[in-house]
Amino acid sequence: MSLANWEIVIGLETHAQLNTASKIFSGASTAFGAAPNTQACAVDIALPGVLPVLNRGAVERAIRFGLAVGGTIAPRSVFARKNYFYPDLPKGYQISQYELPVVAGGGLTIRVSAGDTAKEKFVRLTRAHLEEDAGKSLHELSGSHVALGHGKSGIDLNRAGTPLLEIVSEPDMRSAEEAVAYAKALHALVRWIDICDGNMQEGSFRCDANVSVRPKGSDVLGTRREIKNLNSFRFLQAAIEYEARWQVETLEDGGRIEQATVLFDPASGETRAMRSKEEAHDYRYFPDPDLLPLEISPAWIDAVKAALPELPEAMRARFERDYGLSAYDAATLTAARETAAYFEQAVAAAGAGNAKLCANWVMGELAARLNREEKDIAASPVAAVQLAGLVARIADDTISGKIAKEVFDALWSGDGENADAVIEAKGLKQISDTGALERIIDEVLAASPKSVEEFRAGKEKAFNALVGQAMKATRGKANPQQVNDLLRKKLAG
Ligand code: ADP
Ligand code: MG
Repeated sequence: MSLANWEIVIGLETHAQLNTASKIFSGASTAFGAAPNTQACAVDIALPGVLPVLNRGAVERAIRFGLAVGGTIAPRSVFARKNYFYPDLPKGYQISQYELPVVAGGGLTIRVSAGDTAKEKFVRLTRAHLEEDAGKSLHELSGSHVALGHGKSGIDLNRAGTPLLEIVSEPDMRSAEEAVAYAKALHALVRWIDICDGNMQEGSFRCDANVSVRPKGSDVLGTRREIKNLNSFRFLQAAIEYEARWQVETLEDGGRIEQATVLFDPASGETRAMRSKEEAHDYRYFPDPDLLPLEISPAWIDAVKAALPELPEAMRARFERDYGLSAYDAATLTAARETAAYFEQAVAAAGAGNAKLCANWVMGELAARLNREEKDIAASPVAAVQLAGLVARIADDTISGKIAKEVFDALWSGDGENADAVIEAKGLKQISDTGALERIIDEVLAASPKSVEEFRAGKEKAFNALVGQAMKATRGKANPQQVNDLLRKKLAG
């Protein structure tokens, strides 16, 4: 088998749960984790005689998304019934949008690392439409609050009627890495514009991956199989890689790919067929007679647009331009809105001239510490202004980068209001006084005749040993550059 002769083609369908307090067509709560079947009301399960009423907040979030991806907001879209039987859908149909979705077109820029640099690519979106979620089937002991006996399944309808935005991409991705980069960019965007909490464990953001392969150079699409419900980036990557290999093997062995819906089993790392793929006509879509067409006025769109935050792509470009950051730094800092906000606050306090130093500290020490202690940047024990104070003292040579880590630790554990207080209290101020440094260096030279001799015999290593001695004598507080300069001068003399 040779993957090199084949091109992988991937299109993703993503379900983002919209973060409204109530359901898309009823007032029932959308809160996660309630006891089973306590949050599905008569409308969510379509008992006879009830009528759905569209949630304005869900529509507003769809508009926000459409604008953020540069798509078109349909002035008039239609809710349709998608008919199918499943135990977790007692009403027998799901309300969705079919022929006229609320958002059409648009796209997302993704970056995939290629060696040292990142390759940029624009992934086109086909559409995004509003729909309701179905309930959940709990098998055996998988439900945490219910003790289902062995071999038994239960139905929890709490999720029925939860608002979803289904976002459909064009088949523009060419590798599992690109698909993951797209899913991550989309995940970051829906949180950035605050329409979805992005919690993948709770199922608030899940992807179906459509995968096909074709001989390199061909421009006709192969037959696709759709991998359902991937709720982690790792599974998305593994599932696509397995599926693509399987398809190539099947074709190279003279087999054919049947269009199908498949499931990924994380335990075995394999995909397996769940059902043959149903066609749209199997669902007998028709406009829901209980709901009026959704009409969105230009004034509403303008109002939503006015309230949109600066978008990640625009902010990334601005960071490069205004702060002189590299493309990599700008992309990393704008991966999440909270990180970007923290960085900008720090720069505002430390001065734009210190932007690169602020970026290094946010992406380096701070990110590592937050990660290690599983804290969100919004709840960072070291506030942005505190970090800025620290950066300013590195920039004006009050402390070295190494001592700065000690100051950072102190700020993290709350030992001091700000960097200046910590430096003062712990006596960490860098020694830059030439007279004082000269005295220390003279002592070091007198105490290490062997190193001096070795250096004079041409051993550069001996010089480093002398620098080390001087730093040690000052407990790391000597200005390292000055120590270097003074030592060279003395040894030359
Ligand atoms: P559905 O899966 O509901 O029938 P579509 O036919 O519109 O819907 O396709 C859904 C997704 O499958 C889209 O993301 C699309 O880009 C992708 N897709 C369509 N054809 C292929 C193909 N041959 N290979 C890979 N992806 C495909
Ligand atoms: Mg599909």
